[in-house]
Amino acid sequence: MSGRPASHLFYQGRGRKPVLEQARGVYMWDVDGKRYLDGSSGAMVCNIGHGNDRVLAAMRAQMDKATFGYRLHFETEASERLATKTAGLMPPGLNRVFFVSGGSEAVESALKLARQYALAVGQAQRWKVISRFPSYHGATLGALAVTGYAPMTAPFDPMMRPMPKIPAPRAYLDGLDPEDPATGRHYADMLETKIMEEGPETVLAFIVEPVGGASTGALVPPAGYLQRVREICDRHGVLMITDEVMTGAGRTGAFLATDHWGVPPDIIVLSKGYAAGYVPLGAMVAHERLVEPVLDSGGFIHGYTYAGNPLACAAGLAVLDEIEREGLIGNAAAMGERLRARLDGLMQKYPFIGDVRGKGLLLAFEFVSDRASMAPLPPEAKAFDRFVQIAYEQGLIVYARRTRGGYSGDHILVCPPMIVTDAHLDEITEGLDRSLAQFADELAT
Ligand code: PLP
Repeated sequence: MSGRPASHLFYQGRGRKPVLEQARGVYMWDVDGKRYLDGSSGAMVCNIGHGNDRVLAAMRAQMDKATFGYRLHFETEASERLATKTAGLMPPGLNRVFFVSGGSEAVESALKLARQYALAVGQAQRWKVISRFPSYHGATLGALAVTGYAPMTAPFDPMMRPMPKIPAPRAYLDGLDPEDPATGRHYADMLETKIMEEGPETVLAFIVEPVGGASTGALVPPAGYLQRVREICDRHGVLMITDEVMTGAGRTGAFLATDHWGVPPDIIVLSKGYAAGYVPLGAMVAHERLVEPVLDSGGFIHGYTYAGNPLACAAGLAVLDEIEREGLIGNAAAMGERLRARLDGLMQKYPFIGDVRGKGLLLAFEFVSDRASMAPLPPEAKAFDRFVQIAYEQGLIVYARRTRGGYSGDHILVCPPMIVTDAHLDEITEGLDRSLAQFADELAT
């Protein structure tokens, strides 16, 4: 990597990364020929694996027809078909689909639809969107306002209207049993307390990642939590928005994470696995009961130039077809259980792993100083950065975060594509084991 010319490109920092040459299935190669197993599907995106021939063929076919048609000038077959397909995968009534190009745009769209619905039905005083801490809902200012992750929000606080937050249900840190319905009630009731504090007539919506993503490290809700959240929202006329950007399209072993608990929200946001990294695509799916009054009252005042892009929609459609054809949701559930068992095995071996959690192939483990106190590793250790680097050198890509604010420490997400086989799981486990052994040596010195 040294000796490369200076780059005009910048993202978060100055560090240079290997240059990607090719990606196929669960593997990626850099220009030096080094092979990596994509153990995090990029950023939990490439759910059907890289370079899928059927998806590429569908994209080529669409490219030969048209790559752009502005939504105010044309409808396209690809966007109509994807909307119909998507609506068919949603709970009853959630059949209105609004296309965007990514997760943040999908969240912005959900917040704006909720607000316009309130206006349309004469509830102009409702504008507050309650969310959780920690949480991640996107990088744009609206999505950031409902994000509970101080390192990303703090610099922009003066530019955003503060939105109320409640704690995410981290039963494992509070010493509570996640299987006990009392635990689910305990955390869900924090929503009701917050709604009452804020004044129910001012609260528009509650936005929640049904299984946590990078912010919490695959936090699974305790028993009864989402059901009770639904009841509380109904009781107070608050809309329930589920952010399925990371969990949607099968990653947790069901098309939507909320399908595991049979809880239908009012608005769902999708991206990431929805087009699996083949193109930038997302969707906001809303209950028809919300959309109709908005359209009746003059239309949805919102939209992006690339909304419903035919190439993106053709790719999205081919990805959903592929998930169905190959039974990838079932595979995510089955392989997720096996990978989980392997992570549990690693936890037995390495005392600095304090928790293993997740659902389907959205799995994570968390580092702690000691399991009794569940205290995180000291921030100076930059454990998450270091571990990712060690794994990378071993040819294994994982995704890591540190959630600050006294809540949690470093967690490592292990979320390979939904096409993984047992042989891939062996490779992932061996790579993790080698990396953890090296990490343990470094911690000891
Ligand atoms: N919501 C969740 C749960 C996410 O995980 C992300 C991205 O990581 C987003 C929203 C934002 O998506 P994007 O980065 O595509 O804007």
